Amino acid sequence: MLAYIGLGSNLDNPRAQVEQAFAELAALSGCELLARSPLYGSTAIGPGEQPDYVNAVGLLKTELTPLALLDALQAIEQSHRRVRLEHWGPRTLDLDILLLDNLSIDSERLKVPHPYLTQRSFVLYPLADIAPALHLPDGRSLQEVVALCPRDGLAQIE
Ligand code: ATP
Ligand code: MG
Ligand code: MG
Repeated sequence: MLAYIGLGSNLDNPRAQVEQAFAELAALSGCELLARSPLYGSTAIGPGEQPDYVNAVGLLKTELTPLALLDALQAIEQSHRRVRLEHWGPRTLDLDILLLDNLSIDSERLKVPHPYLTQRSFVLYPLADIAPALHLPDGRSLQEVVALCPRDGLAQIE
């Protein structure tokens, strides 16, 4: 199975958090990191004033089931001492499953494609960097979805 993973951090040296997370994704058993996007900087969404985010997207080839992959990603988040103080609050590391092959999943723990995928420039632009010819499970091309999503302050930082 091919899995696109969105990475985000806006606490405790976000750039290092994301770099470390890429290394941890690459080291996951049953997984191979096939590609990684450049790093991007984005302005935080969510409650109150927050530091800017560093975002990126990775492509994993995995033998894990969808829920086992989610477990593995959440274990990495925990190892970065992520504390969930409030929904959409600042965090040391967020790892979201964006796409899994051409699957659509709608369970309590896991929704794929990620529900906000098509609305978030900090996900769509790095995704397009590593998968320019991608199509979503609903048949739309990534390019047409990207064209509808303004960059909104997103900038490549490396
Ligand atoms: P958002 O969904 O807006 O990006 P978030 O990433 O901050 O919010 P989290 O606190 O990281 O939200 O995750 C909340 C819950 O979302 C997780 O416990 C997980 O079970 C669930 N979830 C549902 N779909 C996904 C997905 N595609 N990837 C990661 N988590 C998911
Ligand atoms: Mg998220
Ligand atoms: Mg998340």
